[in-house]
Amino acid sequence: MNKNITQQFKFTFILFAFSISIFGWGKTGHINITKHAFKLLQQNMNVTQIYADSIVNKSNDPDIRVRTIKEQAPWHYIDIDYYKEFNNLEMIYCYDSLVSRYGENEVKKQGTLPWVIERNYNKLIEAFRNKHLTEILFYSAEVAHFVADAHMPLHATINYDGQLTNQKGIHSRYESKLVGKYLNEICKGFYIQPLDTINNPLLTAFDILDNSFSFINIILDSDKKASELAHSSETDMYYGLLWKQTDYITYIQMNNAAKFVASYIYSAWFKAGMPKIEKYIN
Ligand SMILES: [Zn+2]
Repeated sequence: MNKNITQQFKFTFILFAFSISIFGWGKTGHINITKHAFKLLQQNMNVTQIYADSIVNKSNDPDIRVRTIKEQAPWHYIDIDYYKEFNNLEMIYCYDSLVSRYGENEVKKQGTLPWVIERNYNKLIEAFRNKHLTEILFYSAEVAHFVADAHMPLHATINYDGQLTNQKGIHSRYESKLVGKYLNEICKGFYIQPLDTINNPLLTAFDILDNSFSFINIILDSDKKASELAHSSETDMYYGLLWKQTDYITYIQMNNAAKFVASYIYSAWFKAGMPKIEKYIN
């Protein structure tokens, strides 16, 4: 391969790697998680339909935005098992401490999702305090998107597309195709549950990611088993088998995503002094 072709190949590979790592739950996934989050929010906040509809409609915006603003790609994930501290159960949560050990470029490259959640949560508190309507809508939707992303197990690993275990393509097979095929079941599986109060937005984000991480091997093993039995990883039989083994994970993660989206929004509003905001919150 001459140098130009090699560079072109590298560029295409980077683009490909980039494109599969950015999507959280796909557009329908984000919309349905946020819709359910607003049902849960009604338990603690008297939110209006205008507010709910606006956030549901904007909940996929970060995935649209990242198509043109490539620098935002690492906001959507963290390859947490890249860090030896995580694997030794001593993860460094402080961004600056991690940067001083690994360098800013490396930390950004491995993804910054938990700090993005914390930053947007703090911005949302400020927006509620100032009763700044545009910012309330913007940061509520950002919180809704990134908290949901943290619940997608393959957004929490260096093996995000099964590329290290010869299972390339599992990222979109699981989050887009499987979720798309079984969307009715997933929507029927949403249930009402109480919200949590978020005391430490960063630690909660890492807890969510820890929990997501615990499902990765089950998804990868299920993919392996399903493709062996179906002699394919594209057929209906494959997806039927994959769903059979991972449906409970999907129900748990979708419900937890909605619960924590609602919990972060509620806690930000609570921390801002529970302001009444015309059109949005009565
Ligand atoms: Zn995303």
